[in-house]
This record gives sequence, structure tokens and C-alpha cells, in this order.
Amino acid sequence: MIGAGIAGLTAACALAQRGFAVTVLERAGALREVGAGLQISPNAVRVIEALGLWPRFRAISAPSQRVELRDSAGRPVAVLDLARHRPQDRFRLVHRARLVTLLEQAAREAGARIELGHEVTALPDVPLLIGADGVKSRLRPALNGAETPFFTGQTAWRALIPAESDAVPAAQVFMGPGRHLVSYPLGQGQRNIVAVVERPDWHEEGWSISGDPAELRAAFARFGGPVPGWLEQVERVGIWGLFRHPVAAHWQDGRRALIGDAAHPTLPFMAQGAVMAIEDAWILAACLDAGPDQQTALARFQALRQPRCQRIVEAANANARNYHLRGPTRAVAHAGLRAVSRLAPTRLIERFAWLYDYDPTAL
Ligand SMILES: Cc1cc2nc3c(=O)[nH]c(=O)nc-3n(C[C@H](O)[C@H](O)[C@H](O)COP(=O)(O)OP(=O)(O)OC[C@H]3O[C@@H](n4cnc5c(N)ncnc54)[C@H](O)[C@@H]3O)c2cc1C
Repeated sequence: MIGAGIAGLTAACALAQRGFAVTVLERAGALREVGAGLQISPNAVRVIEALGLWPRFRAISAPSQRVELRDSAGRPVAVLDLARHRPQDRFRLVHRARLVTLLEQAAREAGARIELGHEVTALPDVPLLIGADGVKSRLRPALNGAETPFFTGQTAWRALIPAESDAVPAAQVFMGPGRHLVSYPLGQGQRNIVAVVERPDWHEEGWSISGDPAELRAAFARFGGPVPGWLEQVERVGIWGLFRHPVAAHWQDGRRALIGDAAHPTLPFMAQGAVMAIEDAWILAACLDAGPDQQTALARFQALRQPRCQRIVEAANANARNYHLRGPTRAVAHAGLRAVSRLAPTRLIERFAWLYDYDPTAL
């Protein structure tokens, strides 16, 4: 396996628990405290439970009771009341680094070998090679040829600030013309902020590029509600360019397979990047375990995963437009959302039943 991100570590755990011998090669010298918040929806929590990790995951994450859509002044537009309308489901908020640490421990406990500081430069010739090596995968071009992602014209900042002691356990989305900001408490006293603006200048697609907090504050200076107070507290901020990549056409060739961002990088607007990686990992392990042979198992894996991931990536692309509406279109759309939220609140959530009701462990 190449890559000890969320896809690679979950797959290592799932495969090792089923008795496969797994070695993970990760270029980072240590799985350090990198990244910020992730929203983990019930479709991935089912995998975490099936891996026996729910009690530990619950301890490192926080519940998400609702999703609140607000306008840039902070006025409510719509609420997806998850706790009320989907009480059986677990929506959680977690720091990426804490989830990575948990998955690393679980994979090692299950018997997987994880070799840190090992960058794969030439693809090894092994009976099964899994590329869990993220958006700049080395294995993906070997299966799909060279591809060029395109810059969406959107740039995102992300930052962590201290959470208020009475922080609302909800993901809040503040939508303004050409920009939006998402924030939620992560547990352990932290609040995550992701702020997206449309701007034509280009930023690299990477997770460790530093931005300027003053620039972030200036971009959201017209926002109201809690946003100015949050942004005042930002001391360090990361910045990354949002690129659109096609979902890979070829996920496997019988000896090699792609999972996670290596197969289907997504814009962050459905909060499903890590979730799809976790789903992939379980289903890959289940297919390989079910046999009858590796080629059939990998073909089945792609057939099960590709259409679903395609649908999720397309939904995230659509949200990019919906959040940033301007002028009269924005007024009409917000009025419509307000009405649906008031008159038929379950309709907003049920639109996503296909996403959240999916149970990878039923395979
Ligand atoms: C440092 C970092 C921080 C992130 N922070 C956030 C965040 O704050 N919020 C968010 O929503 N998403 C974040 N993400 C993305 C999110 O984790 C992924 O979209 C999602 O979890 C899918 O994970 P993945 O395992 O497929 O890919 P990734 O998480 O990208 O993991 C890929 C792994 O492969 C390793 N790798 C790549 N190439 C090689 C190679 N040639 N040899 C050996 N190892 C290799 C990388 O070092 C990395 O550990 C972050 C990703 C990274 C890498």
C-alpha cells in the first residue's frame, strides 16, 4: 500500500483484521499533527463501528447535531436538524490528525506494518499494490495516463481557533456572493474554519501552504454574526487552491488498485473526501476477502465504488455554485430554502438519504 492517509490506514486496518499481510509505505517521517477538521457522516461511521473503533472514535470526536445555512449577515436560511430528524445516525466532527492517529494504532494492532519515511518513487512489483497516495498519486497515472486538473477559480483558507465553551454542536455555513465560510467545533476545545472565495489568481493544490490571516479577515470583512469574532482569533491559516479532477476511469488492473483521493479527489463542499476514503477501504477489503480471485474482486470493487463516488463528486461540484449565488438569483434561492426549511424541514435532509443511508458494511 502506498500512503498512510485516511484511505491507506483504514484499508490497512480492514485488510489486516481479515488476515491479509499488509505493508504501508508512507513518505512522511511521522504522522504529525497536520490538517484540520473533518466532518464524518454516518455512512463512514458504520465502517468505523464495524472495525471495532467506535468507542475510541467517539472519544476523539464531537457530535454534529445540525447543519445551519445562514446568509453572510448571519441570518438563518435553513436548518438540517440531524439530531431531530435522523436520531439513529451518527454525524461526527473530528480533527484529521486525531483520526489518523487512531487509524494508525488500529492498523498496527491488527498486524499491519507501517513504514514511515519511505517515499515510493518507482512502483514496486508486488502481488497487489494499492495506491492510497492522495491527489498527486503515483499509481493513478500508471493506470490512467497523464491528466490535468483544472483550477476552479476558488481558493480556500482553513484555520483552527479555540472553541467557545458553549459552542453550538453544529456545522454552520455562511453564504455570501462569491464566497462562503463553514465552521464547526471539533471537540477538545477547538473550532474549525474553512473559508472559500472565488478569485482568479492561482494557488497551489496542497495542504501545508501558509496564508495570511489579515487577507482572510479582509475577504470576509462584510460578514456578520459570529464570523468577525472568529476571524479576529485566527493566528495561523493554511491556504489551498481548489481543483477539479475527473473521477479516475481506471481504478484497477487486476494487480493494482486506487482508493481515496487517488481515485476520486473531490471539492470539499459535501464534506465527503475522507468519508469516501473510509467507504472505499472497507469495500476493497470485503471484495478481496470474498474472492473468488483477485482480478474478479478488484473489478467488483471498481463496479461498486465508481458510480457512487461519481455522484458524490458531482454533488460537491453543484454545491460550489449554490453557496456563492449573487444578486436576484441568491435572493430567490434563499427565500426558497427558508420556505422549505420552515414548511417541510425533513425534505432538505431526505434529499441526501442516498448519501447517508448507505451502509458499506452490508456488503
Ligand atoms: C497533510 C494533509 C492534511 C489534510 N488536511 C485536511 C483538512 O484539514 N480537512 C480536510 O477536509 N481534508 C484534509 N486533507 C484531505 C483529506 O484527508 C483527504 O481528502 C481524505 O481523507 C482522503 O484521504 P486519502 O488517504 O485518500 O489521501 P491523503 O489524506 O492525501 O493521504 C495520502 C497519503 O499518501 C502519502 N503519499 C503520497 N505520495 C506518496 C509516495 N509517493 N510515497 C509514500 N507516501 C505517499 C501522503 O504523504 C499522505 O499521507 C488533508 C490531507 C493531507 C495529506
